[in-house]
Amino acid sequence: MIAGELRVDRARLVANIRAVRARMAPAEALVVIKDDAYALGVDEVVAAGLVAGARWFGGIDVPSALRAARAADGRARVIAWMTVPEDEARRAVAGGLELGVGDEDYLERVAAAARAAGVTARVHLKIDTGLHRNGVRPERWRAFCARAAAWESTGAVRVAGIWSHIAEASDAEDDASRSAFDAAVAVAREAGLRPEVRHLAASAAAWARPEFRYELVRVGAFCYGIRSADGPEIAGIAPAASLVARVTEVDDDGVIVGMGFVDGYPSTAAGRVAAGTPAGARAVEAVDAFAARIASWPGAAVGDEVVLFGTGAHGEPTPTDLGEAIGTVGEEPLLRVSRLVPRVYVGSAAAR
Ligand SMILES: *Cc1c(COP(=O)(O)O)cnc(C)c1O
Repeated sequence: MIAGELRVDRARLVANIRAVRARMAPAEALVVIKDDAYALGVDEVVAAGLVAGARWFGGIDVPSALRAARAADGRARVIAWMTVPEDEARRAVAGGLELGVGDEDYLERVAAAARAAGVTARVHLKIDTGLHRNGVRPERWRAFCARAAAWESTGAVRVAGIWSHIAEASDAEDDASRSAFDAAVAVAREAGLRPEVRHLAASAAAWARPEFRYELVRVGAFCYGIRSADGPEIAGIAPAASLVARVTEVDDDGVIVGMGFVDGYPSTAAGRVAAGTPAGARAVEAVDAFAARIASWPGAAVGDEVVLFGTGAHGEPTPTDLGEAIGTVGEEPLLRVSRLVPRVYVGSAAAR
């Protein structure tokens, strides 16, 4: 039995997304909902995003993007950027999704899918600006844009956006990617394409560097209150989810809480971080499969709550603090949380 939960603060999510949107304005912020919205749950994150004024959501796979689109119910545009087979592309466009297209053959499949579904597919063409993950290579870009323009003239597709993804590892590399991106947009315009939005940056570059914002930025981590590993604190954002475990046993050696590495709390946390207890920070001494041992405090009792990561309010690390302590990024502690750990939503997303 898991004694604990991943507790999601709706008001915090709304505040984070508001802070991100305010920072990016007049550019719009697309809220990234991949990995079940960084483990917080797509439906609730979309609801919070809408309250915060978000009008774009996006993720990798089609099923979660469709889920986001259903949750948004016509109030937002949703992009799925994974390359998928034609039948799945057809379900996507029939469900109103826009598609990221970074592959020549995929453009043909999407156009065929749109014709089969009897709709115009809104697509975002992806140029490879150096990351080599997905995206059309610069030397093939001109022909790709011409092909997209040809499909546009048939009504099968409409090129809504031009985009790319950058490493955000060094300013110099990002600057080189941005030049390549601007060149690609110019080529697209020469081909007759009229994209509504250009999008290049994710959380870190979008926050720090206005020239990377264009009309749209894709923000994941910062919406959830996850700062970059080894990066600065971000004013106005804080972690929206806390991993909370309950005390199941108190003995002379310490306090046992009912959550362990099988539930997603990393075993390498032992000896490296504290947990937040009713008496403040206490050392994490051991992490087993289904339980962890925490240094005791006076009056510790079965049923007490211990925060394994969260905002820091009780002495616990944030997800990024924990990530740094175990040599990884701040998304990782969230993405490790088992699907079996209940997600509990607290507070209200209601507009204030
Ligand atoms: C994950 C992802 C993002 C968001 O990155 P963050 O650093 O979490 O803001 C943006 N764009 C793409 C293509 C992604 O896969």
